[in-house]
Amino acid sequence: MKDYRFEIITGPMSCGKTEELLRRIKRAVIANKNVKVFFPEIDKRVSGDYIRSRNGIARDAIRVHSAKEILAYTRDADIVAIDELQFFDRHIVEVIRTLTKQGKKVIGAGLDLDFKEEPFGHMPELLCYANKVDKLTAICMKCGSEYGLRTQRLINGEPADVSSPQIMIGGDETYEARCLDCYELKKTKEDKKLFVLSRAKIEHNV
Ligand SMILES: [Zn+2]
Repeated sequence: MKDYRFEIITGPMSCGKTEELLRRIKRAVIANKNVKVFFPEIDKRVSGDYIRSRNGIARDAIRVHSAKEILAYTRDADIVAIDELQFFDRHIVEVIRTLTKQGKKVIGAGLDLDFKEEPFGHMPELLCYANKVDKLTAICMKCGSEYGLRTQRLINGEPADVSSPQIMIGGDETYEARCLDCYELKKTKEDKKLFVLSRAKIEHNV
Protein backbone atom coordinates (compact mmCIF):
# COMPACT_ATOMS: atom_id res chain seq x y z
CA MET A 1 0.00 0.00 0.00
CA LYS A 2 1.48 3.27 -1.10
CA ASP A 3 1.21 6.35 1.06
CA TYR A 4 -1.50 8.77 0.05
CA ARG A 5 -0.02 12.23 0.15
CA PHE A 6 -1.67 15.31 -1.25
CA GLU A 7 -0.92 18.57 0.49
CA ILE A 8 -2.49 21.96 -0.20
CA ILE A 9 -1.17 25.34 0.84
CA THR A 10 -3.96 27.90 0.58
CA GLY A 11 -5.08 31.35 1.73
CA PRO A 12 -5.47 34.84 0.22
CA MET A 13 -3.10 36.78 -2.01
CA SER A 14 0.23 37.67 -0.38
CA CYS A 15 0.07 35.09 2.42
CA GLY A 16 3.23 33.27 1.33
CA LYS A 17 1.72 30.27 -0.48
CA THR A 18 4.34 30.11 -3.23
CA GLU A 19 7.13 30.79 -0.72
CA GLU A 20 5.96 27.79 1.33
CA LEU A 21 5.62 25.67 -1.83
CA LEU A 22 9.20 26.58 -2.78
CA ARG A 23 10.41 25.69 0.72
CA ARG A 24 8.86 22.22 0.43
CA ILE A 25 10.31 21.78 -3.08
CA LYS A 26 13.77 22.68 -1.76
CA ARG A 27 13.49 20.05 0.99
CA ALA A 28 12.48 17.43 -1.58
CA VAL A 29 15.50 18.31 -3.72
CA ILE A 30 17.79 18.00 -0.68
CA ALA A 31 16.26 14.55 -0.12
CA ASN A 32 17.29 13.66 -3.70
CA LYS A 33 13.73 13.29 -4.92
CA ASN A 34 12.77 13.81 -8.53
CA VAL A 35 10.58 16.93 -8.34
CA LYS A 36 8.50 18.34 -11.19
CA VAL A 37 6.96 21.80 -10.81
CA PHE A 38 3.98 23.11 -12.80
CA PHE A 39 1.93 26.25 -13.24
CA PRO A 40 -1.04 27.01 -15.53
CA GLU A 41 -0.79 29.36 -18.46
CA ILE A 42 -3.41 32.06 -17.98
CA ASP A 43 -1.70 34.99 -19.65
CA LYS A 44 0.21 34.29 -22.85
CA ARG A 45 1.99 37.64 -22.58
CA VAL A 46 3.75 36.59 -19.37
CA SER A 47 7.10 35.13 -20.34
CA GLY A 48 9.45 32.88 -18.39
CA ASP A 49 8.96 29.33 -17.22
CA TYR A 50 9.32 29.58 -13.48
CA ILE A 51 7.35 30.22 -10.33
CA ARG A 52 8.41 33.07 -8.09
CA SER A 53 7.46 34.09 -4.58
CA ARG A 54 6.95 37.70 -3.58
CA ASN A 55 10.29 37.76 -1.79
CA GLY A 56 12.02 37.04 -5.09
CA ILE A 57 12.86 33.34 -4.78
CA ALA A 58 12.24 31.54 -8.07
CA ARG A 59 12.43 28.04 -9.48
CA ASP A 60 12.14 26.60 -12.98
CA ALA A 61 8.70 25.22 -13.66
CA ILE A 62 6.75 23.74 -16.56
CA ARG A 63 3.97 25.89 -17.98
CA VAL A 64 0.94 23.81 -18.96
CA HIS A 65 -2.20 24.73 -20.90
CA SER A 66 -4.38 22.03 -19.36
CA ALA A 67 -4.38 19.87 -16.25
CA LYS A 68 -4.05 16.62 -18.26
CA GLU A 69 -0.73 17.83 -19.70
CA ILE A 70 0.83 17.34 -16.26
CA LEU A 71 0.58 13.55 -16.65
CA ALA A 72 2.84 13.65 -19.72
CA TYR A 73 5.75 15.05 -17.69
CA THR A 74 5.50 13.12 -14.46
CA ARG A 75 6.34 9.51 -15.29
CA ASP A 76 9.62 9.55 -13.32
CA ALA A 77 8.60 12.12 -10.72
CA ASP A 78 8.51 11.33 -7.01
CA ILE A 79 7.02 14.67 -6.11
CA VAL A 80 4.72 16.88 -8.20
CA ALA A 81 4.38 20.53 -7.14
CA ILE A 82 1.64 22.66 -8.68
CA ASP A 83 1.22 26.42 -8.19
CA GLU A 84 -1.93 28.49 -8.88
CA LEU A 85 -4.17 25.44 -8.47
CA GLN A 86 -7.29 27.63 -8.61
CA PHE A 87 -6.75 28.41 -12.31
CA PHE A 88 -6.77 24.82 -13.57
CA ASP A 89 -9.62 23.22 -15.51
CA ARG A 90 -11.88 20.58 -13.91
CA HIS A 91 -9.57 17.72 -14.89
CA ILE A 92 -7.09 18.84 -12.22
CA VAL A 93 -9.02 16.77 -9.66
CA GLU A 94 -8.67 13.45 -11.52
CA VAL A 95 -5.09 14.27 -12.54
CA ILE A 96 -4.03 14.74 -8.91
CA ARG A 97 -5.91 11.62 -7.83
CA THR A 98 -4.14 9.66 -10.57
CA LEU A 99 -0.75 10.96 -9.44
CA THR A 100 -1.37 10.04 -5.81
CA LYS A 101 -2.57 6.56 -6.83
CA GLN A 102 0.75 6.15 -8.65
CA GLY A 103 2.44 6.72 -5.28
CA LYS A 104 3.62 10.24 -6.01
CA LYS A 105 3.39 13.02 -3.49
CA VAL A 106 1.50 16.08 -4.74
CA ILE A 107 1.96 19.51 -3.19
CA GLY A 108 -0.36 22.23 -4.47
CA ALA A 109 -0.73 25.93 -3.73
CA GLY A 110 -3.68 28.12 -4.63
CA LEU A 111 -6.19 30.76 -3.58
CA ASP A 112 -9.14 29.43 -1.59
CA LEU A 113 -11.49 32.32 -2.47
CA ASP A 114 -11.70 34.84 -5.29
CA PHE A 115 -12.01 38.61 -4.77
CA LYS A 116 -15.78 38.20 -4.26
CA GLU A 117 -15.25 35.73 -1.38
CA GLU A 118 -16.47 32.87 -3.57
CA PRO A 119 -14.66 29.51 -3.72
CA PHE A 120 -12.13 29.68 -6.54
CA GLY A 121 -12.25 27.15 -9.42
CA HIS A 122 -11.96 23.53 -8.28
CA MET A 123 -10.38 24.36 -4.93
CA PRO A 124 -13.36 23.10 -2.88
CA GLU A 125 -13.10 19.57 -4.31
CA LEU A 126 -9.31 19.60 -4.13
CA LEU A 127 -9.42 20.65 -0.48
CA CYS A 128 -11.67 17.64 0.21
CA TYR A 129 -9.23 15.20 -1.35
CA ALA A 130 -6.14 16.72 0.29
CA ASN A 131 -4.92 14.91 3.37
CA LYS A 132 -3.02 17.92 4.66
CA VAL A 133 -4.21 21.52 4.33
CA ASP A 134 -2.36 24.59 5.51
CA LYS A 135 -4.36 27.80 5.44
CA LEU A 136 -2.05 30.77 5.70
CA THR A 137 -3.01 34.32 6.63
CA ALA A 138 -1.56 37.54 5.28
CA ILE A 139 -1.10 40.91 6.96
CA CYS A 140 -4.12 43.15 6.30
CA MET A 141 -2.81 45.99 4.13
CA LYS A 142 -5.30 48.44 5.59
CA CYS A 143 -5.10 47.98 9.37
CA GLY A 144 -2.10 45.70 9.90
CA SER A 145 -4.12 42.83 11.42
CA GLU A 146 -2.42 39.44 11.26
CA TYR A 147 -5.67 37.92 10.00
CA GLY A 148 -5.65 38.97 6.37
CA LEU A 149 -8.04 36.31 5.04
CA ARG A 150 -9.47 37.95 1.94
CA THR A 151 -8.13 39.07 -1.43
CA GLN A 152 -9.16 42.65 -2.10
CA ARG A 153 -9.32 43.68 -5.75
CA LEU A 154 -8.77 47.38 -6.37
CA ILE A 155 -9.43 49.09 -9.68
CA ASN A 156 -7.78 52.51 -9.90
CA GLY A 157 -7.38 52.30 -6.12
CA GLU A 158 -11.10 51.68 -5.50
CA PRO A 159 -12.69 48.36 -4.35
CA ALA A 160 -13.96 46.41 -7.37
CA ASP A 161 -17.70 45.76 -7.63
CA VAL A 162 -19.48 42.40 -7.91
CA SER A 163 -19.84 42.69 -11.70
CA SER A 164 -16.06 42.54 -12.13
CA PRO A 165 -15.00 39.22 -13.77
CA GLN A 166 -13.37 36.50 -11.66
CA ILE A 167 -10.20 36.53 -13.74
CA MET A 168 -8.88 39.77 -15.21
CA ILE A 169 -5.91 39.65 -17.55
CA GLY A 170 -3.74 42.66 -18.15
CA GLY A 171 -6.19 45.14 -16.60
CA ASP A 172 -5.51 48.05 -14.26
CA GLU A 173 -6.44 46.06 -11.20
CA THR A 174 -4.24 45.48 -8.17
CA TYR A 175 -4.73 43.16 -5.22
CA GLU A 176 -4.01 43.31 -1.53
CA ALA A 177 -4.78 41.15 1.47
CA ARG A 178 -7.39 42.43 3.89
CA CYS A 179 -8.91 41.24 7.16
CA LEU A 180 -12.67 40.60 7.33
CA ASP A 181 -13.32 44.07 8.79
CA CYS A 182 -11.41 45.90 6.07
CA TYR A 183 -12.47 43.77 3.07
CA GLU A 184 -14.83 45.65 0.73
CA LEU A 185 -16.92 44.55 -2.25
CA LYS A 186 -18.91 47.25 -3.99
CA LYS A 187 -22.44 46.46 -5.09
CA THR A 188 -23.51 47.50 -8.57
CA LYS A 189 -26.31 50.05 -9.06
CA GLU A 190 -28.68 47.17 -10.04
CA ASP A 191 -27.83 45.28 -6.83
CA LYS A 192 -28.47 48.40 -4.76
CA LYS A 193 -31.81 48.94 -6.53
CA LEU A 194 -32.84 45.30 -5.87
CA PHE A 195 -31.78 45.66 -2.24
CA VAL A 196 -33.88 48.82 -1.77
CA LEU A 197 -36.85 47.10 -3.49
CA SER A 198 -36.62 43.99 -1.30
CA ARG A 199 -36.33 46.14 1.83
CA ALA A 200 -39.44 48.08 0.77
CA LYS A 201 -41.30 44.78 0.20
CA ILE A 202 -40.36 43.52 3.65
CA GLU A 203 -41.31 46.82 5.33
CA HIS A 204 -44.69 46.96 3.59
CA ASN A 205 -45.35 43.21 3.89
CA VAL A 206 -45.75 42.86 0.15
ZN1 LIG B 1 -7.86 45.09 8.41
